[in-house]
Amino acid sequence: MSPLEDILHRRIAAEGPMTIAEYMATCLGHPQHGYYQIRDPLGAAGDFTTAPEISQMFGELLGLCLAQCWLEQGRPSAFVLAELGPGRGTLMADATRAMRGVPGMLEAAHLHLVETSPRLRDEQHRRLAPLMPVWHDSIEKLPEAPLFLLANEFFDALPIRQFLRKGDAWCERVVGFEDGALAFGLTEPAPRGDLESRLADTQEGDLVETCAPAAGIAEEIGRRLQAHGGAALIVDYGSARSLGDTFQAVRRHDKVSPLSAPGSADLTAHVDFGALAAATPCATSALTPQGVFLERLGITDRARALAARLSGAQLDSHVAAHRRLTHPEEMGSLFKTLGAFPEGAAPPPGLLTHDA
Ligand code: SAH
Repeated sequence: MSPLEDILHRRIAAEGPMTIAEYMATCLGHPQHGYYQIRDPLGAAGDFTTAPEISQMFGELLGLCLAQCWLEQGRPSAFVLAELGPGRGTLMADATRAMRGVPGMLEAAHLHLVETSPRLRDEQHRRLAPLMPVWHDSIEKLPEAPLFLLANEFFDALPIRQFLRKGDAWCERVVGFEDGALAFGLTEPAPRGDLESRLADTQEGDLVETCAPAAGIAEEIGRRLQAHGGAALIVDYGSARSLGDTFQAVRRHDKVSPLSAPGSADLTAHVDFGALAAATPCATSALTPQGVFLERLGITDRARALAARLSGAQLDSHVAAHRRLTHPEEMGSLFKTLGAFPEGAAPPPGLLTHDA
């Protein structure tokens, strides 16, 4: 039994079955044995690959999108350029390289990174040191200032809870034991005030997921945007509302059971963008598929320009990367973008207002 399995078994034996949120938070974030604490999970040799690791075009276009918001909002001086869960720092490195073409922007930017993993903070330092980033454990610690923020595949890593509908009540899905092994179970049904609105759009036996930390972070982003100005681009897999079990584990690019080998696989869930937008006390854009968003930002022109300098295997892999980011059967549809911006400001380029 791994040390983390031992910790989970002891806790369940002492306190009874735990929520999926507690299981997820322990597996991902345990200070000694948590998944993100001890490894760099990204890239071909790791467990999963993300858009910025697939092509520089992703970060460049998101960077220029934020730059346009900065220009339209009157080039605020001394603003916070922030990223939540920056991974290897690739997205911010590409974004800031593109921002160099916008006079005055990087001079006015103070880079702040919200990252809990010491291992990934080291990776971020390696790529972003010249920009003198400041690291934080949580978004609350960012300075109060205009905020231009990126978050790619961050919200999917936050701990979710799952509830199965029974009549007008809900059973929570929990992690306990069966025959000495970790197993899913259900609590007795109970009414839940926070799921009242979901009685209208679900049926007996439906499962819904909630993510209180995501709502808290979205609220904090929105409060800052309303108070100081700025813009946020949130990109992740998910949909406009949670329905069905999306709790998943990925190890070496394959799906595995979320309860097998805890701490050695990435655990995620789809993002409920409707809940994020509802929690954000500022304007939000229409939820936009990643492929559509990147096409509107001009990814095809950028891809052609880069292709002109490539040949052979490098050209093939560049063409494949463009397809992977945008094609509906690859990341183009499953991944969505939500923009957040102050009431009265224009939405970020590539995104439409909610009711447009
Ligand atoms: N955005 C990057 C990495 C995505 S992986 C990319 O697109 O490549 C998820 C990132 O979020 C990692 O950097 C991980 O360490 C970080 N992370 C996960 N949970 C976090 C939390 N609760 N607070 C801050 N960072 C977190």
